[in-house]
Amino acid sequence: MAEDRISFIPRYHETPDQAAEYLRLTLPLLSKHRLPVNPVNYAIGYDYVAGNNRPLREAIDRLQQTHQPLTPELCIRFYKEYILDEAARRFEKVGDSLQHLVGNTLSEVEKTETQAGHSAATLEQQAALLQQQEPAQIAEVLQNVIQETRNLAAAGSELRSNLQATNREIHQLRAELEMMKEAAFTDALTGLLNRRAFDMKIQQLLANAPVGTSFLLLLDLDHFKKINDQYGHLTGDKVLRFTAEVIRKHLPPGQIAARYGGEEMAVLLQGFDRAQALRLAEQIRETLAKSRLKRRDNEETLGQVTLSIGIAGLEENDTVDSLIERADQALYEAKRQGRNRVIDDRGLIRRESS
Ligand code: GH3
Ligand code: MG
Ligand code: MG
Repeated sequence: MAEDRISFIPRYHETPDQAAEYLRLTLPLLSKHRLPVNPVNYAIGYDYVAGNNRPLREAIDRLQQTHQPLTPELCIRFYKEYILDEAARRFEKVGDSLQHLVGNTLSEVEKTETQAGHSAATLEQQAALLQQQEPAQIAEVLQNVIQETRNLAAAGSELRSNLQATNREIHQLRAELEMMKEAAFTDALTGLLNRRAFDMKIQQLLANAPVGTSFLLLLDLDHFKKINDQYGHLTGDKVLRFTAEVIRKHLPPGQIAARYGGEEMAVLLQGFDRAQALRLAEQIRETLAKSRLKRRDNEETLGQVTLSIGIAGLEENDTVDSLIERADQALYEAKRQGRNRVIDDRGLIRRESS
C-alpha cells in the first residue's frame, strides 16, 4: 500500500528572521507566475529563493530560460520530485555509502592477503636458499627475511588503520540512519510518536494481546479551538507541546505516547490494571488543569487549559478498530458530561474537582 511507504518530512533550519526574509521574496515570485499561495506552491517558491535545493532551482531556472510558465501542475510535480522525494534520496545515499564502504574494505583485505601470499613465497624461497648457502651469505638471506617480515607488518598496520577509518564512517552513517528513522516516526511539533508509529505500536499490542493489562487512552484538549481563536495558533502550538510534556512526564519508561491527530493524543499502557490506568489518566488530567500557562509574547496567563480522557481496556477478540472505538466513545462521554474528566469503557469516572 502506498500509504505504508515511509516518507520523510522536509526539514528547515532557518531562523525566524531568515524565514521571514524568504517569505518576502517568495510572495512576489508566486505572484509573478500567478500562482495561488497554497502550501505546495509556497514550498516551491520558498525552496527556490532559499537556494539550498539545487535540483529544484535548476529545474525552475530551465523553465525561465525557455520562457515557460511555472504552472500549478508543474509545482505539484516539482513538489513530489524535488521536495518529498529528496528526503528519500538522502536515505538511499546512506545505503550507497555503506555499500561503497564495504566494497572498499573488501578490496583492502584482498590487498593485504596478496601481500601476505607474496611474503610467504619470498620467505620460503629464502629458507630454501639458506640450506645451500655458505655461512658468509647467510647474513644477506637473513636481511631479506627481515625485510619481508617488515613489509608484511606494514601491510597489516595499513589494513588496521583503514579498517579503523571505515569503522568511524560506519558509526557516523549509523547515527545518520538512526536520526532519519527517528524523524520518520516522530511528531515534529510535540516530539511524541507520530500517527504512523502509533498505528504500528497498537497493531503490535494487539498481536501480543495481553488482555486485562493493556489500555488505550485517548486524550483530547477541551475547547482547543477557542484557545487558537483567542490567543493565536502559535500559542495553541505551545499548549500542545506543553500537554505532550505533561503526558510524557507521567508515563513510566516503556509506555507509549503519540500524537493521534490535531489536538488529540493517545497513550498505550501495558502491564497496568484498570485502577492504575485510571489513576494515571487522572494524574495527567489534574496536572494540566492545575498548570498556569503564560502567553508567548507577554506575561498574561491563559485561562485554565483542560483535557478529557477516554480509556478502553483490551478485551478478548478486540481488533484495533474496536479498541479505538471504545476509547473514543468513552472520550465522547467525558466531553458530554462536561469535559475535564476521565471516563473508561465501563463508564467509570475519575474526576476530582480542580
Ligand atoms: P472539544 O472540547 O469538543 O474537543 O472542542 P475543540 O475546540 O477542542 O475541538 P474541535 O475538534 O472543534 O477543534 C479542534 C481544533 O484544534 C481545531 C484546530 O484548529 C485545532 N488544531 C488542530 N491541530 C492543531 C495544531 O497543530 N496546532 C494548533 N494550534 N491548533 C490545532
Ligand atoms: Mg478538542
Ligand atoms: Mg479533537
